[in-house]
Amino acid sequence: METLRGESLNMKTDKRYRPRVQRAFLRWYELNRHRFPAELQLLERTDRILKLTLPGLCSLITFDLIRSGTYFEINPTVMIDDDNFDLLIWQDVSVQKIESGYICQLCQEDNRKLYKTREHMWTEHLFEPLLLWINKSLMSAHWLIIDKGEYWCSARLNKESDEKYSSILLWKQINT
Ligand SMILES: [Zn+2]
Repeated sequence: METLRGESLNMKTDKRYRPRVQRAFLRWYELNRHRFPAELQLLERTDRILKLTLPGLCSLITFDLIRSGTYFEINPTVMIDDDNFDLLIWQDVSVQKIESGYICQLCQEDNRKLYKTREHMWTEHLFEPLLLWINKSLMSAHWLIIDKGEYWCSARLNKESDEKYSSILLWKQINT
């Protein structure tokens, strides 16, 4: 496993990015990086996962683009301890090739959209919703609230800290 903490994400033609979904993400990111609040940074890259973060963001949260066969997800993941994690949102897609293009098997049957390419599907199902979530939810929250029981745990964002649970500051003060 290669660890590239803090490397900036600037490799649209980088052939090391083998899985098609990672190349699609990077191409989309090149065109849309100005819409992000800051430059994404690379934490980890394998064929299975592309793990990203934003500068100054609490290190428990990462954005994980994961491929598992024809199943793909991109989720803000909170590592709660070595064994436990929770997802702040859950966005996934299961790609099925049909004669006229591609559909997502996880969408309800009467609501399935036909995509010409997998890239279109990934963009609409995964990349754009992540960006929207970052800009709307993540950027307006100040605290990460973690509720941990003996056999379960959950994480959520909040504007205020919550003394009933462990509250972790979302953003490090950086050059403001
Ligand atoms: Zn779907």
